[in-house]
Amino acid sequence: MRIDVLTLFPEMFHGPLEASIVGRAQAAGILQVHLWNIRDFTDDRHRQVDDYPFGGGAGMIMKPEPVFAAVRHVLGKEKAPVLLMTPQGERFGHGLAEELAKEKRLLMLCGHYEGIDERIRESVVTQQISIGDYVLTGGELPAMVVIDAIVRFLPGALGEATAVWTDSFAEGLLEYPQYTRPRVFEGMDVPEILLSGDHQRIARWRRRESLRRTLLQRPELLAGLELSKEDRELLAAIEEELSQSSDRSD
Ligand code: SAM
Repeated sequence: MRIDVLTLFPEMFHGPLEASIVGRAQAAGILQVHLWNIRDFTDDRHRQVDDYPFGGGAGMIMKPEPVFAAVRHVLGKEKAPVLLMTPQGERFGHGLAEELAKEKRLLMLCGHYEGIDERIRESVVTQQISIGDYVLTGGELPAMVVIDAIVRFLPGALGEATAVWTDSFAEGLLEYPQYTRPRVFEGMDVPEILLSGDHQRIARWRRRESLRRTLLQRPELLAGLELSKEDRELLAAIEEELSQSSDRSD
């Protein structure tokens, strides 16, 4: 996959893109990230990329000319989704990451200052992505978040190909609790069942704990799922357990 990023601060990407799985995916040729400085597409002496908003108001707005020129230069005659990072966009999540990972090529546009001239959004951008309901100073961190989440879906990027399918959200639930050695740490034991070697019982325990965790932390996720009869029974048992323990603590 090839991802082109248009930004005013390409240097912000260096650490995060070079480390860990994203770095390895690039070294292995699974992913290519090209960073473009929007300022290089200005044609005036001051290399100006922003200007005052028409109609007044605080802050500066990214000018359309350098962004249009950069997109035309980078894509040429090729077509690719042009993703604008913006708090006004579609909320980024597991499903969108998986969908975007199927593309051969993406172009990401990072805003800065008070945002971008609306004509960029209207004419160049094909999809708008928000990483949450808060406002950051620029689109660079959101672009890195999106790249990192996409890379995990690229075949061969993760050591163990199945890991991505057992993570939180893959099946609509949060992941079950995980433990590693030592077996006892500061008086806290690993649940006995995980040491039993009984894979069927372990799988059932993990499913129950996924359901429990989702019910406690993100109950709205359960509402959108089609649960099996077994899941519904497990959930009913968990709810019963929880109501008994809250009765005891009253
Ligand atoms: N004035 C804009 C508004 O109210 O929608 C916010 C501009 S913000 C200060 C500057 C840039 O940061 C945006 O153009 C966008 O690229 C990026 N940004 C900020 N928050 C973001 C978020 N939650 N998700 C994605 N991008 C974001």
